[in-house]
This record gives sequence, structure tokens and C-alpha cells, in this order.
Amino acid sequence: MSTKEIIKKMDTSRRLSRLSEIWSGVESVLFPCCCTSCGILLEKQSRYLCDDCVAQRFEDPNPVNESTCGKIILPDEVLFQDALWRYDKAGSLQRLMTMLKYEGMGEVGSELGEYLGRRLADRHLNSRISDPEEAVLLPVPLHPVRLKKRGYNQAEKIARGIQRITEVKVASTDVLLRVKHTVSQTRFRVNERLENLSKAFRLDRADVLHNRHVILVDDVFTTGSTCFSISSVIAAAKPASVSILTVGLA
Ligand SMILES: [Zn+2]
Repeated sequence: MSTKEIIKKMDTSRRLSRLSEIWSGVESVLFPCCCTSCGILLEKQSRYLCDDCVAQRFEDPNPVNESTCGKIILPDEVLFQDALWRYDKAGSLQRLMTMLKYEGMGEVGSELGEYLGRRLADRHLNSRISDPEEAVLLPVPLHPVRLKKRGYNQAEKIARGIQRITEVKVASTDVLLRVKHTVSQTRFRVNERLENLSKAFRLDRADVLHNRHVILVDDVFTTGSTCFSISSVIAAAKPASVSILTVGLA
């Protein structure tokens, strides 16, 4: 390479690096990193909530740490059910869930998963779950058709966030499959939801869950029909326990 070519290459690289600096400046003015809930400018890049909102903005649906949020009746095989925040229709949590599920922002799930991971560590590991090393996170699977459309499973994103905080591992996607493409559940009554979900899941790797403390992870707990349907399917693997953990409680 001639000296002339080397100088030209260096100039191009300098110009590119200068352009990139200018762009990050413009980007931070055009798209500042704001809290999704209160709108204040965030110091940390790539976060969606400020510390104040995480601590105070949302309602805890289980303030005294009972084994369920409110009066939910759990099937015999379920040890506990907990949710981080009460679902506020048209509010901040709704906004985060829309970003996570319909706007391709999977990282929202990882951040929410980290908050949920702290909850799991503070309340349940080494107490309700006596042996955290035997615990495994099982995200509620999506049907392949929906997975392809969304590009990722939001429950898995949440579970990855939990894993980052607690070091409890996420089960691989071949353990439990969603084999029936169920239509949206929201319009159905409870018994119709159960009918809609019957035979929707198939356990393929019972060995992974046998004798383990399985923690089902989902975005929102509504009637529980999805999680209860899974808990009855995975009972065949004879897990040590099954629990349910979600970000939202509808
Ligand atoms: Zn905020």
C-alpha cells in the first residue's frame, strides 16, 4: 500500500469516527434515554425505568409476601405464585408490556426480569425454595408461529433477566413445547380458556425437570389458566416443586 493510500485510509477512518461522534451527540438530543414511566432523563443508557419509579411507581400485589397474590386458589402441585407489580391498564406497566410484546423491544423484558430476579432472591430463594441450586426457570413457551412473528419469546427475555440476578438457570427451549396455536385468550371466560389451552403444551424433556424446583416465568398472570395448564403437564416429570413468577398481575 502506498503512503498516499495509507493517508487516505487514515483520513477515511478519522472521518468515520468523527461522524460517529457527531451522530451519538445528535442521537442523545433527538432520542434521549428517558424513564418510560415518569419521563425524566436517565443517567444509565439503555434502561427503561428510573430507580424512583422502580421503587415507588407500581403497586405491589403481594405486600406481605403470602404464597399467592390475593385470593388465588392454586392447584395442589403449585408451591407459590408471585407477581412484581399490579397490572395498571393504560398505565405504565401496560406501556412496558406493549413495548415488550408488540414493538420489538425485547430488552424491556430483560430489565423487568432483573427486578423480578431481585424479588425471587429476596423472598423465595433459601426460604420457600430451600435449595436454589436445584431451581430452574421455565419460560412459558410461544408457539413457533407466534415466535417467528415476534422474533423472540418475551417470557424468555424476562427469565434471562432473572438469571442475571439470581444465577438460577433458564431451561432450554426443547424442554416444553407449545404445540397448539391457541387464539388470543383475552375474550374467553375461565372454562373457555382451559378448553382453548387443553393439549396446547407438550413436555419433551422430563429429565430436565425431574426433582428440580421449577419456576414458571411469564409476563402477566391473568386467570392463571396458562400456568396451571403447564403445571399439570409438567407434573409428569415429578419436579420437587412448581412455582409461578410473573412481572404483572392483571
Ligand atoms: Zn421514572
